[in-house]
Amino acid sequence: MMLQCREAARQVSKGLDAPLPLKERLSLAFHLWLCPRCTEYQRQLLALRAMLGEELEKLLHPSGDSDDSLTAKEKEYLLQPLTRSGG
Ligand SMILES: [Zn+2]
Repeated sequence: MMLQCREAARQVSKGLDAPLPLKERLSLAFHLWLCPRCTEYQRQLLALRAMLGEELEKLLHPSGDSDDSLTAKEKEYLLQPLTRSGG
C-alpha cells in the first residue's frame, strides 16, 4: 500500500523528534525512495532543524564576553576614571 504524501510528511517531521516504529520507518523510506518531493521536504526539515539547533546552542551557551572574562588589569583600567577623584 502506497503511503500518501501528507502522511509521509507527517512521519518525516515526527521522525525528527522521536524514532519511528520500524513499520512506519520502512513505509516512509519506501515512499521517499519513490517521491522526490517528500525527499526534498525531509532534506529541508533536517537543514532547518540543524540551523535552529545551532542558534539554540548559541543562546544556551553564549561565547560572548562576561565580566569574568576580563583580567584583573583590564578591570583596573576600566575602573580608573571612576576611582580617581583628583583632577
Ligand atoms: Zn510524497
